[in-house]
Amino acid sequence: MNIILFGPPGAGKGTQAQVLVDDYGLVQLSTGDMLREARDSGTELGNKVKDIMDSGQLVSDEIVVGIISERIEQPDCANGFILDGFPRTRPQAEALDHMLEDKGLRLDAVIMIEVPDDELFRRIDTRAKETDGARPDDTPEVLRRRLDVYHQQTAPVLPYYDQKGMLKTVDGLESVGSVTAQIKEILEGASG
Ligand code: AMP
Repeated sequence: MNIILFGPPGAGKGTQAQVLVDDYGLVQLSTGDMLREARDSGTELGNKVKDIMDSGQLVSDEIVVGIISERIEQPDCANGFILDGFPRTRPQAEALDHMLEDKGLRLDAVIMIEVPDDELFRRIDTRAKETDGARPDDTPEVLRRRLDVYHQQTAPVLPYYDQKGMLKTVDGLESVGSVTAQIKEILEGASG
C-alpha cells in the first residue's frame, strides 16, 4: 500500500505516519526528515538547502523529486510507503505520477489531515517548547511563512488528486487516536 499523507505543517502527518509504520509495516518517507539529516550532517546537499529550509521556503522540486525517486527503489519500500511532506507542489505531484508509472507502482490513497491555521500556531509553539527549539523553523515568524507557502504552493496540489477521485479528508482537530481511526477506515476501504 502506497499512500500520501497531506496537510499543513503541524497537522500531525509525522505522528500518524509513525502509527502506520508500526501497524502496517509501511516505510515513512519524510522529505523534511531526509533534508534535515542532510543539513545536520553538513553534506553538499545539506549545505545547499540549509538557508532555504531554515527560512521556511521550499527547496527545489528537482532536489526533492530526485531524493524520493531514489528512495522508493530501496528494498524496504517494497511492502509500501507513506509519503509525508511530498509532493508539495503541482510539478512534484506530476513528477511523482511519472516516476510511479515508470517503476510500475501506484498510489492507493491520498489523505489530507485538515487543521485550521490558529491551531497550527498553538501546536508549533508547543513543539518548539517541548523540543527546546530544536527545529529552527518552529517559530511563529517562520511558521507564518511556511503556512503562506502551504496555502500558495501546496494546497493547489489537492484538486489534482481530487480530480482523480483519490482525495480523502480527515478532521485533524480530533485526538491522535481518533485521527488514526479515521485514516485506518480509509485505508481499509482502499485496500478492500
Ligand atoms: P517538513 O518537516 O515536512 O515541514 O519540511 C521541512 C522543510 O524541508 C520545509 O519547510 C522545506 O524547506 C523542506 N521540504 C520538505 N519537503 C519538501 C518538499 N516536498 N518540497 C520542497 N521543500 C521541502
